[in-house]
Amino acid sequence: RVSKSFDLKGSGLSAGNKLRLKAVDTVSLNLTAGETLGIAGESGCGKSTLAKLITGLLQPDSGVVSFQGNDIRQLAAPDTRQFRRSVQMVFQDPFSSLNPRMRIGDTIAEPLLIHKLCDVDRIRETSVNLMEQVGLSGDQYDRFPHEFSGGQRQRIGIARALAARPAVLIADEPVSSLDISIQAQIINLLQDLKQQHGLSLLMVSHDLGVLRHICDRIAVMYLGAVVELAPASELFTHCRHPYSQALLAAIPSIHKNSGISCRPLRSHDVPSAANLPEGCRFHPRCPYAEEICRKESPMLQEQRPGHLAACHLSDRIFTE
Ligand code: SF4
Ligand code: MG
Repeated sequence: RVSKSFDLKGSGLSAGNKLRLKAVDTVSLNLTAGETLGIAGESGCGKSTLAKLITGLLQPDSGVVSFQGNDIRQLAAPDTRQFRRSVQMVFQDPFSSLNPRMRIGDTIAEPLLIHKLCDVDRIRETSVNLMEQVGLSGDQYDRFPHEFSGGQRQRIGIARALAARPAVLIADEPVSSLDISIQAQIINLLQDLKQQHGLSLLMVSHDLGVLRHICDRIAVMYLGAVVELAPASELFTHCRHPYSQALLAAIPSIHKNSGISCRPLRSHDVPSAANLPEGCRFHPRCPYAEEICRKESPMLQEQRPGHLAACHLSDRIFTE
């Protein structure tokens, strides 16, 4: 269970009047080998912070991130290097994560050198092989990032991540800056690579439609907490949380075909994580909220096998 808060300074706050923003509030998740876990939720819900906690880019205030059973902060130096290599990120905007002055073949080859993963005289060949695995051509080795489209740049970012021979790939909104037609290509590529290399994949997206076909399980986050965790197919057919229901109803194709009936949200404004509502954190927007929701915070509880949700009233709301 990890938590992470930030101090907010400036922006209209007087000195000494700091606000604590709870970006991730006691989230407990495990990712098993070969699994694809999706993390869904609106922007600001703590998805990216959670991804950074998992990669060790941020340290939790409390709780532990462990890798293969070991707390990542307690690892000896060689194990830390192995952890860094084993857990690779794919970013939302590949352009800002690629060095504009570096030839893309060299960018992809860099992790091979850093982690000494192949002989120096085989670097170029290995890098070309990675380029081909992600659908680029070896002829493009000496080009620079600005010569590529958004989708191609994302392929470059994926090839670079793959070069480190990771066990886990964390993709934070990997397709949200791309056209719809390109999105499907990149998702399919991630899916194929996952199978070929036996990777575990953590996919962060605000769009449940993106997560639907690739994920084994999906965690829905709201204001820093997981409010529902379910096998992906179950989430789409038997969701157990009003917030998940609202996210599902916002996907046009699903709304039409499944007949999910959903009361409209009471507000589209997301309350600030710096000022969490009492009781259920979703109650100010929840169309089903009752007295108990304003007073008591619901626990994440198993509702069906392997399916958890945090809602006092789910039995009543989701009768089948
Ligand atoms: Fe809505 Fe109450 Fe369930 Fe929270 S606990 S999601 S407010 S019904
Ligand atoms: Mg984000």
